Amino acid sequence: MRKPIIAGNWKMNKTRDEALQFIYAVKDHVASTDVVESVVCAPFPYLRCLVKRQGAFLRVGAQNMHFKSAGAYTGEVAPEMLTSIGVSYVVLGHSERREMFNETDETVNKKVHAAFENGLTPIICVGESLEQRETGATNAVVDTQTVAALEGLTVEQVKRVVIAYEPIWAIGTGRTATAEQANETIGYIRSVIERAYGREVAEAVRIQYGGSVNPSNIKELMAQEHIDGALVGGASLDPKSFLSLVNYQ
Ligand code: PGA
Repeated sequence: MRKPIIAGNWKMNKTRDEALQFIYAVKDHVASTDVVESVVCAPFPYLRCLVKRQGAFLRVGAQNMHFKSAGAYTGEVAPEMLTSIGVSYVVLGHSERREMFNETDETVNKKVHAAFENGLTPIICVGESLEQRETGATNAVVDTQTVAALEGLTVEQVKRVVIAYEPIWAIGTGRTATAEQANETIGYIRSVIERAYGREVAEAVRIQYGGSVNPSNIKELMAQEHIDGALVGGASLDPKSFLSLVNYQ
């Protein structure tokens, strides 16, 4: 009932030539959007060139944006700038941005609102550190992050958000959460949404898992009840690997 969404997150990788090689290699081989939504989230300089060649089924996302629409914010990119070049998704609150670039629950929430005001689908990242997992704080952390990110949205908007549960200790480490661990925490996030917005909304929201997802573990992860997709870093860079992720079915 919930359509799977698989998104690649290139982070700060690839030259323009590599970005072009990637898009030509994948554009005509991505599964139909009837089956799965496939997204590639690339660095700002390549977004337009990817959109132009995205083909019938692939869609392009940014990895961040500012929440303001214009003004004296040197070095920042506004939501309208993304929609004006055909970008349709934006990753918000990735743990790397929370840890290294002072992203807070409050700025994430402002960005989520700005995304909806501009017709972008936000992919909101939440997830605990290793220390938080080991001290049993996982549920409390994802609860707070989820509630804060969604604050003030309409019910219709909440239904359309994509949440990515990314335990920080599993990102880029080769250490994936087990499918059961991922499913358990994602199920918990769904219960947080149910508590605030009711069952119908909670059942509609798509929640991805992210953290060392690759072509060999995608099927097992996607077979879990609550896991509706994946946000993939390292394994999304190679065109073949990306294709086996989005075509996992
Ligand atoms: P990874 O990154 O797949 O390389 O672990 C995931 C992410 O940070 O979104």
